[in-house]
Amino acid sequence: MNLENNLAFAKAQDEADELKDFRNQFLFPKHNEKEFIYLCGNSLGLQPKVAREVLGKQLDNWANYAVEGWFDGDEPWMFYHKELKKLMAPIVGALPEEVCPMNTLTVNLHLLMVSFYQPESRRFKIIMEGGAFPSDQYAIESQVRFHGFDPKEAIIEVFPRDGEDILRTEDIIAKIEENADEIALVLFGGINYYTGQWYDMQAITKAGHDIGAIVGWDLAHAAGNVPVKLHHWDVDFACWCSYKYQNSGPGGISGIFVHQKHFGNAGLNRFAGWWGYQENKRFKMEKGFVAEAGADGWQISCTQVMPMALYHASLQIFEKAGFMVPLREKSIALTSYLEFVIGEVNKDLGFEQYKIITPKNPNARGAQLSIIAKEKGKQIFDGLVENHILGDWREPDVIRLSPIPLYNSFEDIYLTGQALLSVTKEVLNSN
Ligand SMILES: *Cc1c(COP(=O)(O)O)cnc(C)c1O
Repeated sequence: MNLENNLAFAKAQDEADELKDFRNQFLFPKHNEKEFIYLCGNSLGLQPKVAREVLGKQLDNWANYAVEGWFDGDEPWMFYHKELKKLMAPIVGALPEEVCPMNTLTVNLHLLMVSFYQPESRRFKIIMEGGAFPSDQYAIESQVRFHGFDPKEAIIEVFPRDGEDILRTEDIIAKIEENADEIALVLFGGINYYTGQWYDMQAITKAGHDIGAIVGWDLAHAAGNVPVKLHHWDVDFACWCSYKYQNSGPGGISGIFVHQKHFGNAGLNRFAGWWGYQENKRFKMEKGFVAEAGADGWQISCTQVMPMALYHASLQIFEKAGFMVPLREKSIALTSYLEFVIGEVNKDLGFEQYKIITPKNPNARGAQLSIIAKEKGKQIFDGLVENHILGDWREPDVIRLSPIPLYNSFEDIYLTGQALLSVTKEVLNSN
């Protein structure tokens, strides 16, 4: 399609968009009484308007039933997570029994590594992307040390080639093959938080399995953003947070995935707790842990009803939207339009002030574009905020903008381009 940098074009795209009304289901933050154009859903998704109601309902359940709420009412807490599992499965391409909501993301990363990072004297290394999200770096380093290894020896980080911003799949696979006998675990983020690169998860998973390693993914920036097929790709385990692309609120509940093929493996370590115990015998309170079947067997503590209620409400919005296929189609169109509009800003300025480091290929990225601002990036970013455009800023020079198909419009993108152009001119001419 021929893209055009004008309001009429943007409005026509919005008119034709079957998901356009979903934006009315969300609350937009304001600045001086005026709503932001919110392009930061990669960091914290917007609040669904139903959030208050669903929390209110659980407060009522608590008030009306108290402890009986575990088994009484129209959605007893004891089984509440099962409703979420059904809706989480299509988000990550899993069977419902392979996923479970629990804890928070970094905690789950640790718990899954307890099960799936089982280093031996020769095969003890973990391969990951260089520049991974810090929490993942810290988690992985501390796990390695916990097993008595030195992170310097045990962690292989793959970096882009000199002069390049993103990783080549062939380089990742080559690194896996070079260390074939020593890698115990391949553990990448599905989409890198800084560059927005979506790794070729299927190819990397296969390469890991070909050398006999376990393969896990942190899907913080991928779940609810791009269509992943964890079961079909034969991924061993994965986890994600739900507060970024899945709008479940700050500190929202995390999700885990454990492939069905591991369900019968009694040799997996796990840090156990009563909520992972066989469900129908849990309240017999017997000695000796017996895991519930499936991903549920990794639960430790009792159901976190409030954060789960928020995630549930948000997942129901995904369900109404038809899950990932229609959302992804709109997401590709929105992000391509943003890329185009930024190119138009450069053209207008007469030089490449903005360089997008996120891959151009839509199959190698999700919603987010990471944009290097060559000059005065922070001042320009602050100027955008003044103009009611909220993205986020990453030192030293990157502006990240993420149009979200559930609540951003083509008009948002057009207006962002216009604001970026005027703010840039203002800032660059100001001294
Ligand atoms: C956002 C994010 C986190 C955050 O972890 P929490 O435990 O939820 O605070 C961790 N890892 C990655 C890759 C992230 O993008």
